[in-house]
Amino acid sequence: MSGDSFLPLQEEFATLAIHEAQEPEQWSCMEVVTPLSTSTTFKQNGPADFKKYEYSRSGNPTREVLEKVIAKLEDGKHGFCFSSGLGANTTLLGLLKSGDHILCINDVYGGTNRLFTKVASRFGIETSFSEIEADSFEKNLRKNTKMIWIETPTNPTLQVCDIQRVADISKKNNVILVVDNTFLTPYFQKPLMLGADIVVHSITKYMNGHSDVVMGAVVCSNEELSKEIKFLQNAMGTVPSPFDCYQVLRSLKTLALRMKQHSESSLHIAKYLESHPKVEKVIHPGLSNHPQYELTKRQTSGHSGMLSFYIKGDIDSSKKFLQSLKIFTLAESLGGYESLAELPAVMTHSSVPADQRERLRITDNLIRLSVGLEDVGSLVADLEQALAAI
Ligand SMILES: *Cc1c(COP(=O)(O)O)cnc(C)c1O
Repeated sequence: MSGDSFLPLQEEFATLAIHEAQEPEQWSCMEVVTPLSTSTTFKQNGPADFKKYEYSRSGNPTREVLEKVIAKLEDGKHGFCFSSGLGANTTLLGLLKSGDHILCINDVYGGTNRLFTKVASRFGIETSFSEIEADSFEKNLRKNTKMIWIETPTNPTLQVCDIQRVADISKKNNVILVVDNTFLTPYFQKPLMLGADIVVHSITKYMNGHSDVVMGAVVCSNEELSKEIKFLQNAMGTVPSPFDCYQVLRSLKTLALRMKQHSESSLHIAKYLESHPKVEKVIHPGLSNHPQYELTKRQTSGHSGMLSFYIKGDIDSSKKFLQSLKIFTLAESLGGYESLAELPAVMTHSSVPADQRERLRITDNLIRLSVGLEDVGSLVADLEQALAAI
């Protein structure tokens, strides 16, 4: 046991989010706020003689600032933004070719599972799934494995995967390790520092945090891979709009503040739920009874606003509870300023086959919360009255 402390938070995180790559001197009017550049094309001095940009798919000033900020926050060298999280994932598939194999964590985001098994398979890219333990990745490697894909903590059961150990395995076997860092953001977890080759994000969630932009991002420090990703971003055309980039740049200014509050409130609510007689079990990686609590402290600086819990009862109890909530909104997605609640078995995870759901313990009484930024007292009161309604 290593005491009660998580990794230290990065001291200059908020300063970087606010100032990195945003010097007013780079703009002709010295704008303090990064300008929204909507032009699709740029005037050239002579044929093929242009200042910096030629066409907005291959490069856009607003997007470029955002890409630099996200790369810096992840302690990476190169950032790339995409039309959605799945657009980022799709683009990374371009690193592979027919005959290659992806070894993917079993409890992966449903859309990633669908992309790999239903789309990548059409192009001859095979996917198989590994249990969350690092040993399982080593055991399930194949001769043609080119990519390992993990997500930690997982969704909705918040299991934690040992990034460093999986990184050791991938390095030893010359396999690219991709880590989906959507649930924690670089404020709490830095996969590149733990040995990952590529970090991928659904910016739609915490990074934007205001539930009004769909976007994805990739960060990579390896020069060769980065060059290839840059090529794919332009060749596949999976880019976001400059307006959305502008919105996300604005959102990142408060990422540190938001994550701090999400974290504090979710832990408070987790402890409240643990003590409630109508709750069977709470899953929150910041609770000392979480099965991978020691690992969580070793590889993260804390946990976000995500938590799941089993209520005592059946599907009807779950439905009654969810329909009784007044401040928590019954909806999919996560990571916004507003609190959300959902029933994974019939909502976000309904496409997961029943036997796999059973194995992952995604049952009819498992509720997932995305704890938002409202006053925590009012959130607790809302949960209290909805539990009383069952
Ligand atoms: C939402 C999500 C995605 C997909 O991102 P979109 O922006 O919706 O395309 C991928 N991974 C995780 C962990 C997610 O939560």
